[in-house]
Amino acid sequence: MKQQILAACAAFALTLLSGAASAATVVDDASLGKLDQGGNWLGYGRNYTEQRYSPLEQINAKNVSKLGVAWTLDLPNDRSLTATPLVVDGVMYFNGSYNVVHAVDVRTHKEIWTYDPKTIEHAGDRATIMWDWNRGIAFWKGHVFIATVDGRLISVDAKTGQPAWSVETIDPKNPLFISGAPRVFRDKVIIGNGGTEWGPARGYVTAYDTATGKMAWRFYTVPGNPADGFEDETQAMAAKTWTGEWWKHGGGGTVWHGITYDPEFNRVYIGTGNGSPWNQKMRSPGGGDNLFLCSVVALDADTGKYVWHYQTTPGEAWDYNSNMDIVLTDLKIDGKPVKALLHAPKNGFFYVIDRSTGKLLSAEKFGKVDWAEYIDIKTGRPVERKGARYEDGEELVWPGPFGVHNWPAMSFNPDTGLAYIPSIEMAGMFSDKYTKPKAWESPSFKFDPGVDFLREDGPADWGAAFLRAWDPITQKLRWEVKLPGVWNAGTLTTRGNLVMEGRADGVLVAYAADTGKSLWEMPLGLGISAPPITYEVDGKQYIAQLVGWGGSMTATGGSLSAQHGWAYGAQPRRLVVFELDGKAKLPPMPPKAFAKPLAAPEFTVYAELAKRGSHVWSQSCGMCHGPAGTAGGYAPDLRASPVLLDEKALHAIVFDGALKERGMPQFKNISKDDLEAVRHFIRREARKQNLTPQG
Ligand code: CA
Repeated sequence: MKQQILAACAAFALTLLSGAASAATVVDDASLGKLDQGGNWLGYGRNYTEQRYSPLEQINAKNVSKLGVAWTLDLPNDRSLTATPLVVDGVMYFNGSYNVVHAVDVRTHKEIWTYDPKTIEHAGDRATIMWDWNRGIAFWKGHVFIATVDGRLISVDAKTGQPAWSVETIDPKNPLFISGAPRVFRDKVIIGNGGTEWGPARGYVTAYDTATGKMAWRFYTVPGNPADGFEDETQAMAAKTWTGEWWKHGGGGTVWHGITYDPEFNRVYIGTGNGSPWNQKMRSPGGGDNLFLCSVVALDADTGKYVWHYQTTPGEAWDYNSNMDIVLTDLKIDGKPVKALLHAPKNGFFYVIDRSTGKLLSAEKFGKVDWAEYIDIKTGRPVERKGARYEDGEELVWPGPFGVHNWPAMSFNPDTGLAYIPSIEMAGMFSDKYTKPKAWESPSFKFDPGVDFLREDGPADWGAAFLRAWDPITQKLRWEVKLPGVWNAGTLTTRGNLVMEGRADGVLVAYAADTGKSLWEMPLGLGISAPPITYEVDGKQYIAQLVGWGGSMTATGGSLSAQHGWAYGAQPRRLVVFELDGKAKLPPMPPKAFAKPLAAPEFTVYAELAKRGSHVWSQSCGMCHGPAGTAGGYAPDLRASPVLLDEKALHAIVFDGALKERGMPQFKNISKDDLEAVRHFIRREARKQNLTPQG
């Protein structure tokens, strides 16, 4: 009897405890579907709309000039920081380099736990195609979900930082990797991958059960080999838009970024990638639209079955993927309410789509574009310019492969009705005059998109950048601000009439959302590549910004990126949090640093070897160390490195993996002769007139 009473008392005490705990936020469909999240930032794009709009307005256009530093957290083990942090009940969660997840108490500014999924170790030889950055994590019912660069999806207990389950989402034999954030809905977590430039890639997304990691469904974005039989009638339908033996090169269409869940229709919209390879002459030699490349595809969230698609770039040939943000809102167009989907992909057109049907409502250029004249609204198809497909072997086309808008986040403010787009103006020279399309073969863990790319560095003013405020109803530019360089970060917008964006030159800026007037700015000592977020705790609003130069342009931008002075390892990485009247000091900021190429006159350069080295470089080295050896800050500038002058040291690093743990992979697929050719190539480049302005 006594025991029973004790047990009853214990049960009652537990009820009380869980009663107290029920004040805690449950991150599920209800909370992710709401605009008001109780001061939290619960999902990648904040809530299901992916608008990155916060209703907080304590910090606003009238008082933002008083914004100051509240606290900082140094992140000495991190390099690239591109992620959107989440905030759940006073704890901030974010992922840094190589998917290490940090949980930080925003009241004490101390780390509660970190979780290291040992990405480099797990990736093994596959590390040659991977980078150290990832754009975000998901949160669902007490668990954090991370997708690792090497392709795992892991559920981590948000309280303890201990893994609950882990699944492989890609075949490790395939040259695929993950840089994107998973999304969650209805007890499912969904993830895609990237890697179309490194081998034959067939794109897909997979949804898993959040509790167990069991696969729920998978959708392929391009059809496989007809001889193997199609998965369903959707794949058979898509196959009619392909020619030749496309499956040999995989097709492409990887889903590496934009995924949006729409609770109103219980659908998932996925943004699909470019072709594998980019060059349609190899991929689908008889032409065709090549579904579902460069599209927004709507899928049933419960089954993964196809509902509708809209293809932005039929038969793509320029890396114009449609992986960019997919933002949901309600608009009034010609007096009629519309369930709208907003999408500003690489190809430079801003699309407004009726998401109930997938019908295109309008599409206009939001930057410099000349691959197509316009989008025919009746057919929904682009009217292309003659020559744009480099039919004759070479053509300068706007935009280039980086697009008019890349993954840095677009936000949408329902108060101003404007979308805020970090945009790029940059042409690309597309050439296949030295490649024979018929003889071309897919690479294997080497960069080769079937078009000459990244062989040369360009001048520092090759591209330009703007923050553009775009009106989706009138399809007109409302305001724009010129930005430094080309690689500026994603945006945040708030009910306080603010837009905030970090820049390539390391300055965080607040603008009036309605007019674009600059209201406040602060240099943070390093190029910013992550979007800011805002949260409220104990009744006070804060802005949080991860500071750590990262993303593809920091690796492949050459002088465009090197001009900012964020040389590899020169500046510390950190989290900076702001408040009104914040008085904390930023830790010291080391000066800008620029690579000083070594001429090394004792080294004799053989022209033939240097030429061969250029090819090896663009396939195996340039994607991290930069075009023609000009590093943008992601990896060391090898023109300035004494290691290239020391054959033994170089072999130890490249062949034996001496710096593996620091992220420099071991290369088993480069020959000694090829590496020697690289030494000649780099020395040749080091002696060229340096295009990078010296600070
Ligand atoms: Ca691509």
